[in-house]
This record gives sequence, C-alpha cells and structure tokens, in this order.
Amino acid sequence: MKRVLLKISGEALADHSAIHNPKVLHELVQTISSAQAHGVQLAIVMGGGNIWRARDMESSGIERTKSDRLGMLATIFNASAIEQACSQAQIEAVVMSSIQIDGLTEQMVTAHAVSYLEQGVVVLCAGGTGNPYFSTDTAAALRAAELQCDMIVKATNVDGVYTADPRKDPSAKLLTNITFDDALKNNYKVLDATAFALCKEQNIPICVCNMNNGTMLLDALLGKPVGTQIHL
Ligand code: UDP
Repeated sequence: MKRVLLKISGEALADHSAIHNPKVLHELVQTISSAQAHGVQLAIVMGGGNIWRARDMESSGIERTKSDRLGMLATIFNASAIEQACSQAQIEAVVMSSIQIDGLTEQMVTAHAVSYLEQGVVVLCAGGTGNPYFSTDTAAALRAAELQCDMIVKATNVDGVYTADPRKDPSAKLLTNITFDDALKNNYKVLDATAFALCKEQNIPICVCNMNNGTMLLDALLGKPVGTQIHL
C-alpha cells in the first residue's frame, strides 16, 4: 500500500466520560508512526459523532442544515486533537478542511493535499464534504477518490463485517472477503450507501478492521489481509 485513506468515526476517539480518550489518541499516533516508517502515506477522514450528529439531535429543534454544519464543525475538533497528538510525537500533520477556521485549518485543495502526502505529512481531512445531508463516510470515499488512495481502511470497534451484529448475536460470523455486490445484496453495513456507491464505481477497495485489537489497524494500513476486505 502506498497511499491509504483511514476513516475514523468520532465515537472511536471517545470513552464514556470524555469526547477524547488520551489512550486511544496515543495508540493511534503510534500506529500512524509505524505505518509511515513502512512508507505508507496517510490521509485521515475524521467523523464527528462523539460531539454532534444531526440525526441524534432532531429533537433539539435546530434546523437540519445548521445541525449538519455543527456536525462538520465537530470533525474539526477531532482532527485538531489528532494533529496536536501527532505534533507532540514529532509527526507532521495538517488539518485540511472544507470549512475554514483561522488558526486551525487549511483549505482542502486536492493538489496541496497530494503534495503534503508526497512529503510524508499526515493529511487530516475535516469538515466532511462541506455540505449538509452527507456523512463523513461519503467524505472518506470522496477524498479517497480525489487523492487517488489505494484503499480505504475503516477503523471501527469490531473486527470487520459480520453476518449479524456480533454484540447481539453470538452466532454472527466474521466475513473476511466479500465483493461490493455481496455487501449490497446482503445489506451489510460497511459505509453509507452514497459512500459505498462511489467506492464501487471508482473501484476503491475497503478494509474494515478494529482499531482496538492489537496491531490489526497497522496491519490493515500495510495492506495485510485482516478484518474484512471488500473489493469488486
Ligand atoms: N456532516 C454533514 N456533511 C458531511 C459530513 C458530516 O452534514 O459531509 C454532519 C452530519 O450532521 C453528521 C455529523 O456531521 O451527523 C458527524 O458526521 P458523521 O455522523 O459522519 O460522523 P461519525 O459517525 O463518523 O463520527
């Protein structure tokens, strides 16, 4: 793997009492460092669900498009936290966003992002797609396509895609290798439908893995066959 797009949900950074769990950030930075030592260029799309998710806030009465912008803002919080954690570990990282906040973000411009990646700088893609009614899964597919990433690694808190929810159904089986069509036919939730369609159309393979299971995330970033591999 040369260039990988890592999608991390906001919830993966949190624990029950804080929006950012320092241990998770520390382990993530160590994984980033090891992947870079193997020559992997990393773009990371951050979710924001640990702070704000429009669909969970419907009862708040905030208009949907405003609520979505707050969700996009939440992704900048998360990307900035990772940038700081990288900086403390002497890893160069930049937050490139579709929404600007002076002093925190740079404008997401494809050519600039590619140039950073080629120089070994971690590109933290924030602000989602910049549009309401979308998700950061779709932003991940979009950035993977525009930055010409070799694959998307979706880091979750389970080992991959299962035949059923493994937390509810003990007979659920881990699927190690499936096609885009298998996932669609069986309605396996990998990425949301818009993101999934773009990955299929652009032939961007996806690996779903656990970011809290030893070296599984690093192995996925190095292109090893861990978790669930989804391909044409
Ligand atoms: N969001 C949006 N447009 C985008 C990406 C995100 O409006 O292109 C908003 C949306 O409200 C979403 C929130 O940001 O609920 C957080 O993103 P997401 O739910 O994808 O985060 P994750 O679940 O990955 O933490």
